[in-house]
Amino acid sequence: KKITIAIDGFSSTGKSTLAKQLANYLGYVYVDTGAMYRAVAFFAMQNELISTEFFDKESLIKSLPSIKLQFKFNADLGFAEMYLNDVNVETEIRTIEVSRFVSKVAEVSEVRAKLVEQQKEMGKDKAIVMDGRDIGTVVFPEAELKIFMTSSAITRAKRRYDELVAKGDDVTFEEVLKNVEERDYIDTNREDSPLVMANDAVEIDNSYLNRKEQFDVVLELVND
Ligand code: C5P
Repeated sequence: KKITIAIDGFSSTGKSTLAKQLANYLGYVYVDTGAMYRAVAFFAMQNELISTEFFDKESLIKSLPSIKLQFKFNADLGFAEMYLNDVNVETEIRTIEVSRFVSKVAEVSEVRAKLVEQQKEMGKDKAIVMDGRDIGTVVFPEAELKIFMTSSAITRAKRRYDELVAKGDDVTFEEVLKNVEERDYIDTNREDSPLVMANDAVEIDNSYLNRKEQFDVVLELVND
């Protein structure tokens, strides 16, 4: 039986690693909704609609119809990459600069409405693992399996920091920790679809579980 699996939680809890692993194992489609919000933030940066000093929300809202987001599967990588208006932006959307602005962009209701609609469409045939912040609550409230991932801000910042350094990004641990905490704050306090655990979600705190243990716990839930 094909099901819908929703994975939500805070930044850098290892949601996407788990979701990818699960999708590969089950032969499901994996959708990283964070990549979509990141691509919109990148669009806003490219078009000088957002900076540390200002955010031209109205212009971003007006531009929404001209923002085309697509995932294209890359067989060599084994996952789908994000395309913004037909350009591969998979690398560009993962920088700390985009991370700084993405939560502000994700607060805009019109942005959320557009992306949620596209996400619902992608999941209409089930057999999908989608990760984000509002998948179990807003995008697929009827999902058969909902996972909510948590772990301490320090653990998460450490993971993020290691990833960024490995890519050659010039960041300090303090900057990364501050960014993780800021995003947690904005994500949990925004008016539209704040980050909350769905009533019927299973919480997994991966401060104490390694990848394999996590995967085994979730696989058992899938098979239940
Ligand atoms: O998952 P990731 O850290 O890449 O997401 C980047 C940001 O996009 C989050 O901090 C959050 O502000 C926003 N987001 C969201 N809803 C989702 C996925 C991501 O608001 N479903």
